[in-house]
Amino acid sequence: MSGSKDLTTPAPEQLPLLAVLRRGLPLLRPYRGKVAMAMGLICLWTGTNLAGPWMIKYAIDRGIQTDDSMALNLAIGAYVAIKLSAYVIHRAQILMLSQVGEGFLRDLRVRVFAHMQRLSMPFYDRHKVGVLVSRMTSDVDSLQELVQTGLMMLISSGLLLVLSTIVLTIASPVLMAMCLVAVPPVVWASVRFARRSRLVYTRVRDQVATTLSRLQEGIVGVRVIQAFAREQHEVQRFAEENDKLYDAHIEASKLQAFYLPVIEMAGVGTTALVVLAGGFLVARGTTTIGTVTFFILTLSNLFEPIQQFSQLFNQMQSAGAGMRKLFGLLDTPIDVPEHQSTTPLPKRGDIEVVDVSFRYGEQGDMILSGVALSIASGERLALVGPTGAGKSTLAKLIARMYDPSGGSIRFGGVDLRDAKTATLRQRIVVVPQEGFLFNTSILENVRIARGDASDDEVSEALARVGALERFQALPEGLQTMVDERGSRLSAGEKQLVSLARAALVDPAVLVLDEATSNLDPGTERLVEHAMAQLMGGRTVIVIAHRLSTAQQADRVAVVADGRLAELGSHDDLVEQGGHYAALFSSWRRAGGPEAARRAAPACS
Ligand code: ADP
Repeated sequence: MSGSKDLTTPAPEQLPLLAVLRRGLPLLRPYRGKVAMAMGLICLWTGTNLAGPWMIKYAIDRGIQTDDSMALNLAIGAYVAIKLSAYVIHRAQILMLSQVGEGFLRDLRVRVFAHMQRLSMPFYDRHKVGVLVSRMTSDVDSLQELVQTGLMMLISSGLLLVLSTIVLTIASPVLMAMCLVAVPPVVWASVRFARRSRLVYTRVRDQVATTLSRLQEGIVGVRVIQAFAREQHEVQRFAEENDKLYDAHIEASKLQAFYLPVIEMAGVGTTALVVLAGGFLVARGTTTIGTVTFFILTLSNLFEPIQQFSQLFNQMQSAGAGMRKLFGLLDTPIDVPEHQSTTPLPKRGDIEVVDVSFRYGEQGDMILSGVALSIASGERLALVGPTGAGKSTLAKLIARMYDPSGGSIRFGGVDLRDAKTATLRQRIVVVPQEGFLFNTSILENVRIARGDASDDEVSEALARVGALERFQALPEGLQTMVDERGSRLSAGEKQLVSLARAALVDPAVLVLDEATSNLDPGTERLVEHAMAQLMGGRTVIVIAHRLSTAQQADRVAVVADGRLAELGSHDDLVEQGGHYAALFSSWRRAGGPEAARRAAPACS
């Protein structure tokens, strides 16, 4: 759809790891100071890792070998002091890095969430909720490890590796040369590991998303699943994805299981070699026992960093895969964008649908074509037609939930694409069949329509739709909490909340999707009254599921097969004897308004 993408830059999905990490780096900018301090602490800590074994060497060569108790005491005292300060430094460093890591993730979550809130309906048509939830949870978590432990490992291991190599070479070039034997197997294993791990970790991330999406479907749809006794089938479906997730994780573990022992064996082999060669050298008097001990204690400083690098590499792959997904999300253009220079919308105005065609997605079938229609300010228009004809789609276009694929929609002469979104939402309000209720009080649920409305204004809106008394009669009045999915309110009461939202906004145009099912007798009259109240003095476009609603409208538009088949007043259309007349007479034969009240909708 709209929103151009620069085709010369690769999509985040294909970005090489380093490029992804480089793009993530600026997010750390606010934490520069803390990162620098943590780095300093890491360097100090690395220093203590080398100084400790050096003290042991000193203790053996100067203290034990020469029987100098003073030197021995001094060396051991220094060793203990070094290890104690290492403890304090390590603690501070972990705390510091947690603050950086958690802060980074907190910022990233808000960025992603904010972008998701701005993305429009076409985006949500294309993406599953579970996959989006996994972006925010498991993909963000994959970065957590990297930022918190990975960063520390990268620096401390790198430093340790370099410093240890230098110090060991100085201590005994011959012994150090022996260690080079380990280089070929380590390089071979590392290259193999690196090649496979990117693939494996992208698979893990993808599978986490799919599994979460199944999970989400199973939870949201549990009422339907249980109603049709499909539990076993759903469990099976979930288990299939979960098995794939298991396989992906096992694949990752296999990779580790191959790699880590190779490095470990290289370490063990080298140690054995050093002890053997060291023994000869000590016997020939070319080196000291202290030096050999120092070597053995410090050799782990060579192999541990390599092992840690592999872990780090894992984390980078995992985080890189997560970040690619997150950047992909952050880069998703908004399909229904707001232009920089917006034209002010008049308070009232006609709606003109000018030769509109529409398809969901770029490859989808044409849902509407050649629809042209003008609706005068204050007119009441009923949209009628078979299910799937495109009535709701047309209503969604009029409310600019989507932009038309061809043609335009104007309000008071202004193309909706040029209007400021916030103002547009004040002029045109959609009341869906079943409004979504948030897990908060009735008062707040109405107030979401206009955040700055006072309590009195909310009460007034409720009064205008005749719902105030009913809600005030509840034990906690308007403060009554509505739980998830609004299951504490009846269907009619939920609609009253939706209608009160619309009343609070006081729009020029009301787009109503008439409920297909009958409400409970207690609230049906209330809701009908509320609708009548709300419609007064506004342009109303109602998706009519009952022909009695169409009968009361100024004009009826019959939508069939994505086209505007008929347009005129009820009487005219009945007289014309076309599609609408046929619908109407079969509806009359079936009992007309009585039938509608008893059971199913007339034409949807
Ligand atoms: P009506 O309101 O007349 O029942 P709709 O406008 O809801 O019809 O649907 C018209 C057609 O568009 C149907 O074929 C439907 O499957 C398709 N459709 C509706 N919503 C979407 C969507 N979000 N993504 C893809 N196709 C959709």
